[in-house]
Amino acid sequence: MNYFLATGNLRSPSGLNLMQQAGLSVVADKLNFFRYISHFRCVHRGAFFTEMRTTTVRKLRPEAWGFLCPVHTPDGTPCGLMNHLAAQCSIQNEPSDTSGMKDVLLRLGVIPLDSPLILSGKDYYSVVLDGCIMGYIHFERAELFTDTLRAFKTLQQEKVPRTLEICLVPKSDYASQFPGVYLFSNVARMIRPVINLSHDAVEMISTFEQVYLNICVTASEAHEGITTHEEINEQTMLSVIASLTPYSDFNQSPRNMYQCQMGKQTLGTPLHAYRFRADNKLYRLQTPQSAMVRPAVYDDYNMDEYPIGTNAVVAVISYTGYDMEDAMVINKSSFERGFGHGSVHKTESVFCISGNENNEIEGLDVDGLPYIGRLLHQGDIYYSYVNLQTGDTKVIYYKNEESAYIEQIKLLGDDDGKMELQKIAIVLRIPRNPIIGDKFSSRHGQKGICSMMWPVEDMPFTETGMTPDIIFNPHGFPSRMTIGMMIESMAGKSAASHGLCHDATPFTFSEEEPAIDHFGLMLTKAGYNYYGTERLYSGTDGRELEVDIFFGIVYYQRLRHMVSDKFQVRSTGPVDVLTHQPVKGRKKAGGVRFGEMERDALIAHGTPFLLHDRLFNCSDKSLAKMCVECKSLLSPVLEKPKNISGMLFNNQNKWTCSLCKKTEPVQVIAVPYVFQVLVAEMAAMGLKVVLDAKSDIC
Ligand SMILES: [Zn+2]
Repeated sequence: MNYFLATGNLRSPSGLNLMQQAGLSVVADKLNFFRYISHFRCVHRGAFFTEMRTTTVRKLRPEAWGFLCPVHTPDGTPCGLMNHLAAQCSIQNEPSDTSGMKDVLLRLGVIPLDSPLILSGKDYYSVVLDGCIMGYIHFERAELFTDTLRAFKTLQQEKVPRTLEICLVPKSDYASQFPGVYLFSNVARMIRPVINLSHDAVEMISTFEQVYLNICVTASEAHEGITTHEEINEQTMLSVIASLTPYSDFNQSPRNMYQCQMGKQTLGTPLHAYRFRADNKLYRLQTPQSAMVRPAVYDDYNMDEYPIGTNAVVAVISYTGYDMEDAMVINKSSFERGFGHGSVHKTESVFCISGNENNEIEGLDVDGLPYIGRLLHQGDIYYSYVNLQTGDTKVIYYKNEESAYIEQIKLLGDDDGKMELQKIAIVLRIPRNPIIGDKFSSRHGQKGICSMMWPVEDMPFTETGMTPDIIFNPHGFPSRMTIGMMIESMAGKSAASHGLCHDATPFTFSEEEPAIDHFGLMLTKAGYNYYGTERLYSGTDGRELEVDIFFGIVYYQRLRHMVSDKFQVRSTGPVDVLTHQPVKGRKKAGGVRFGEMERDALIAHGTPFLLHDRLFNCSDKSLAKMCVECKSLLSPVLEKPKNISGMLFNNQNKWTCSLCKKTEPVQVIAVPYVFQVLVAEMAAMGLKVVLDAKSDIC
């Protein structure tokens, strides 16, 4: 079981008839509350379906409405296969008590199996409870029977379980599910609450019966005599995370999906017990704020305890050119005041037996451990220990490139708690304040990277002297159609000026009462423009800008993708043993692949020298000997030196062609090293490679 939970791999000879043996468990990542909760509300159809060519499995079906969120699914390969439960949806965990059911069914007119009556099967539905036939009911009585049973269930009468699924599949002339009355009380069913209109009470329904019920979303949609149920509110179809997107009904749908992805990658407040945790990696936002514009569920989930962003003053203006293509300019002073500051907590577990009793190692305590609060740079003394066999003291140096502070040191016992001082956990705190290249996003799928920390004195300013924290390029709006972000900007501005918190629950505004009127009038009352714009002055020369600029407050999230984890540089470095080409991978200080498409681009640009530099000089340039007479790369061999001085001094080495036994035609040429490998490999296959080289070009 430990192995299964740790790896997600199933070790079973039979395979338990499952369609996959690996990936059955997922680490509950505590990056923030969003990510943590969504791990527990996630439903994955399985790896098998990802390879399926049809899209039918990915579609949202009527029976899934209200149970699975239509918004909260990733884009790309797992789209529609990895779903999340709607916020109101729950799973039946324990079997219901159905001991009184038989009695109830009989009293409602079900004819038992052992009845002496002779029934004509044509006119009767069978009544099935959890797969067992309980009896039969006549076609004409079936509807009344299910309605009464549903009333008992809804009103909690006659010991009918509250989560009983009651479904009458009527007989019809067209192809349909097998007719009958089906009752389910067993576990592993998704259940959700709706309002039963005939009793005006909340009823728990499940997926199978939902298709046979008539559920309206709002009261205005109800049809007299047809509609039986009503949704509790319009947001019940959304998952926990999707319902936390403000004004999501104003956005283009994919943007809401992106926000569901990005909310889960945001730095925030994953927990409060930092002092007692020893997670491998924990991110922390140093200066989080409570969102001023938030859906009502934000408070239901107590999100203020786990905030994930900052209210930022955003000006929608193309100002410096540094805000092109989704980049954003951040006010340098806002950054210095703490905007987006964060840190990473890393825990390293070391075996350690003290080794600095006489204080001879500088910078370490007597127990051989570093002082708490000390700043470590690469190459600094980290800790020391004594080798019990030899009695020698060994000093360990800090290897990481990033400097870190010693946050905490914990002495741990063994796993059973019987022995003390078996391990030592050192918690390192790595400051990760925003730098150019770090990723931010609003709650509307509008992500961008910081392209510049712009000095506040050069930022545009309003008539009251305010400068924006973030400059957002207006070209981000037309194609993305995130109207929700515009409304959030206006709502945030009016919230800040009136000292309010605005409810951003989706579907609260309508055509008759538009959001712009609501917030526009509030802004007018506070002395601002109705449309949320403001007159701005250029930060460089103080002149008034010709157009009014959309200026408001938007809640911004800092995403965990940071350049410090991603940047890759290399001048020269490790190469592959076989090909002598640079290795790949950031960790190994490798190179970035310059592929065929990149090659095409350089050819198209007419820059052959750059192409030559990338693919040859900076890659696997090598000098090879070849014989120009027999045109072979393999025939030159190094002559055995005559004496020891010939061995030591390379310039006295003599290369002779082993075929024509001459020294003169052997020339040095520059070829890619892989080419030498290719020639050698082809020779091994019995193929000769002839190079048409002349001696004067070498
Ligand atoms: Zn030769």
